[in-house]
Amino acid sequence: MTNIEPYVEVVGPSSDENSVIVINAPRLFDGNGNFYENGASVWIEGSVIKAIYDDGSPDPGPGAQVMEFEDSCILPGLMDSHVHLMYGTAGRMSGPRSYDDVNDMDSDALMLLRTVRNGYRHALRSGVTTMRDAGARNRITFDLKEGISAGLFRGFPNLHACGRSITITGGHFHFCHEEADGVEECRKAVRKLVKEGADFIKIMGSGGGTYVTDNRRPSFDVEELKAIVNETHRHGKSCTVHCIATKSIENALDAGVDCIEHYEFVEFDYKRRLDPRIGERMIEQNVYLSPTIQTGYRKLEQMRMLAEERPLTQAEIDQMAFYEWKQEGQVYITGKLYEMGATKFLMGTDAIAEFGDYGIGLKLMVDGGLSNEAALFAATRNTAEALGIMENAGTLEVGKDADITVVDGNPMNDIEDVQKVAQVIKSGFPLPMDGLGLFPHGPGGAVVKGRPLPKNPVVIKNR
Ligand SMILES: [Zn+2]
Repeated sequence: MTNIEPYVEVVGPSSDENSVIVINAPRLFDGNGNFYENGASVWIEGSVIKAIYDDGSPDPGPGAQVMEFEDSCILPGLMDSHVHLMYGTAGRMSGPRSYDDVNDMDSDALMLLRTVRNGYRHALRSGVTTMRDAGARNRITFDLKEGISAGLFRGFPNLHACGRSITITGGHFHFCHEEADGVEECRKAVRKLVKEGADFIKIMGSGGGTYVTDNRRPSFDVEELKAIVNETHRHGKSCTVHCIATKSIENALDAGVDCIEHYEFVEFDYKRRLDPRIGERMIEQNVYLSPTIQTGYRKLEQMRMLAEERPLTQAEIDQMAFYEWKQEGQVYITGKLYEMGATKFLMGTDAIAEFGDYGIGLKLMVDGGLSNEAALFAATRNTAEALGIMENAGTLEVGKDADITVVDGNPMNDIEDVQKVAQVIKSGFPLPMDGLGLFPHGPGGAVVKGRPLPKNPVVIKNR
């Protein structure tokens, strides 16, 4: 042996690419039907899962980062199938400024800035590592995607974006600016969106919360829907439809959509009745079911608390009845469909006011009758399948991206434990869990500059 100094230093991959992280916890839910309760480990190299052990990992050696969790459960990174990242304007959606005011006042640029805050809040507070944005104005979510692809952010959730949702003239979310009428315009709208980078197509199949729309009535007719669906499929993408009205669900099924949002079964008399014939078709046609089950829940909770403090006004009583109708109906219909044999539920928050409030939706699914496992599938593999990203996400498997959410407790016993997020890892990067202060919650909307009041108004009496 001679001692020759090498004159060329061989430079390996950057430390990020071969960094090793080992996560140890007593429990692991892998999203493939396996639940380990006697200690489990995930071995991450760079951004990828290299091994999973159900009986403790071998010693990773020096230089590895070992994360120990004493009473936690390792989950695949959680997924939200329905967000609207441009909002996140807190109480303003139902407070003094309506959602139409927010649309009128706030620029695309301000909304784009909010998407970043909202995405990080959702990741840090709720453990969400993949989000599907179901409709934004102009190019807001396309620009966000470009920012993500350009590597501007670390640990930001995966974004699956439709860009603008397609609606009829004057329809729900018309302010996104993708109105289309008739077969030709519908087909063209899909082509435009695909050209701009849409990952999927979102259709507004009935009215909704947008002023002047009627949520009891379908918007597009079946021919228009078919044109959108066929063109979307021709591009190898999937489409999902916002359906409040019962008739809109039927139309969506006739057109062969891949996924239905909300499915509220609202009839012309504002009664909500699950039509079993349509329910059967939803199951038979194998569509993904995205109940956005928690919409209105927090508002209802607030009003119930208020009712304990003081008598409610008639307007408040009416508002509370509305949220009960919306919320309890959704829990009931989802539970009923599950009872009928539906399994392809997706977890979606429809986050408009609140980002970082996610686990409550899983609790409501379980309240409706879903098993804890079925609810966790909705939060992980089902959504990954619906988004077409099972190759890299949705389950904990060797070779997949290391998107991992660790929660305290045992969500297979108590689904509310999903809300106790302990650590989030996005593509092998452990997010700084104390970083939430960087992304404060709050109104985050443009400041309304009203006409200034005269100073010190004086009432002159007895002149
Ligand atoms: Zn929505």
